[in-house]
Amino acid sequence: MCGEPLHNSSRYFIEKVFKQNRVLNISEIVYEYAICESCANSMSNEISNDSKAAITQLYETHSENLLRKLDYLHRTEKYSINSWVDRCSMTGKQVRLCNEYAVNGIIENGGLVYEHTPIVISDDFVQKIQDVLSEETKETFDDFKKQITDGDPSVEDLVFSPTPGLI
Ligand SMILES: [Zn+2]
Repeated sequence: MCGEPLHNSSRYFIEKVFKQNRVLNISEIVYEYAICESCANSMSNEISNDSKAAITQLYETHSENLLRKLDYLHRTEKYSINSWVDRCSMTGKQVRLCNEYAVNGIIENGGLVYEHTPIVISDDFVQKIQDVLSEETKETFDDFKKQITDGDPSVEDLVFSPTPGLI
């Protein structure tokens, strides 16, 4: 968004949005992007307070699943990406059963951070988010999606909107 090189930011976020290719039985990246911490913060400021409260509420309702998974992964020291991205972090739905899903991560000093991230958001959970967002916030997300995908029509019908600032 700001066009600054990412190495100027000690911390930044990445998101990859996947779609299942049922013919080849693989998941393919539809789009991916990186956003620096300060741009993610300004995105987050554009989300209406009502939407923020609704999103927080949703995360809290599903946090038990996430916390249990994180506890398990840290206890078993599974610090390889595959153990972290096989299921939706919020609903537990396996990614192979998702038509679409997204993986969000934090990069710090050039490496992936294993904390409360990487997290996986399934199509089911993103639908729940979409259902509680205000129209205003949906427009903000849509504008951002257009910006990062250059208005590519093939992503228009995706249920996913970018989620910077949400994690
Ligand atoms: Zn930026």
